[in-house]
Amino acid sequence: MNSLTMSAQIIDGKEVAKAVRKQLKSRIATLAERGIQPGLAAVLVGDDPASATYVNSKAKACDKLKLYSRVITKPADTSQDELLKIVDDLNKDEKIHGILVQSPLPSQIDELSVTLAIDPSKDVDGFHPYNVGLVLLGRPSLLPCTPFGIVKLLEHYNLDPAGREVVVVGRSNIVGKPVAAMLLQKGPMANATVTVAHSRSQNLPEITRRADIVIAAIGRPDTITPDMIREGCIVIDVGVNRVDDPSTEKGYRLTGDVDFEGCASKASWITPVPGGVGPMTISMLMYNTVTAAELISRN
Ligand code: NDP
Repeated sequence: MNSLTMSAQIIDGKEVAKAVRKQLKSRIATLAERGIQPGLAAVLVGDDPASATYVNSKAKACDKLKLYSRVITKPADTSQDELLKIVDDLNKDEKIHGILVQSPLPSQIDELSVTLAIDPSKDVDGFHPYNVGLVLLGRPSLLPCTPFGIVKLLEHYNLDPAGREVVVVGRSNIVGKPVAAMLLQKGPMANATVTVAHSRSQNLPEITRRADIVIAAIGRPDTITPDMIREGCIVIDVGVNRVDDPSTEKGYRLTGDVDFEGCASKASWITPVPGGVGPMTISMLMYNTVTAAELISRN
């Protein structure tokens, strides 16, 4: 992009994700002195290529940090009972401190039943209702990875949300709702005034223009345009969308929910896609696996 038209500073998720992983090394070394190697199990059901890519990159991230990792791959016709049995075995497995079951799951499996079956102390995705409840109460143990990554990004750049207007666009259980709940808490890197908007919100541009911090978790390219943001605001783009692009080798490129070029000329800080929130999610998963190992080994 032409630097003359861009005023926003870049929130570099790759750099911050690297810093998070570096900080984890001393915690991993302390655990190793006590003979503990944090272990993460990822269960993949079916043959969705995107899910397989996610699971592989999580396993690779474990290897790089010398964490133990196990990938369990099951066919698309796996029954709910079979999956629940796998989760139960992992709950009891002392080598495993973190369990994640990659979504989406095939239609014969009820996702909530699987989430409920995971031992909350091993719920490194932070999706179990017990952990969701603790986040709402302001007493979190394991935070959901993407919202946690967003807070870490703000923290790294000293962008304290306290007292500021935050508008979260999107109300999913994995991003929108938990990030809103986290920023609302009394405590460090929180204390924000939070609004959550969604597809039924009227006058979205009016709502987002009030924001000091806009968090877009929508799943639609270019939904947040420059006319929808205030001069000098902070823009966090969670979206990962594939758009056709015949000029690339793969025939597509990844883009966020924000018109990056346009908004970068108006915002003070902005996350790119790729290279913003995305890299944080995996680092926070590693973080949670180490935290889970510390907490479990303390009991
Ligand atoms: P969901 O589809 O679960 O939720 C999308 C939300 O956006 C819904 O609340 C929906 O409203 C709202 N929405 C849709 N269209 C509009 C619109 N035009 N105006 C306002 N709100 C709208 O998505 P997720 O939260 O799971 O993911 C959001 C994006 O973030 C996706 O691109 C996903 O790939 C990406 N993602 C990235 C991650 C990362 O690590 N970087 C991790 C997780 C997700 P309603 O509730 O009314 O339907």
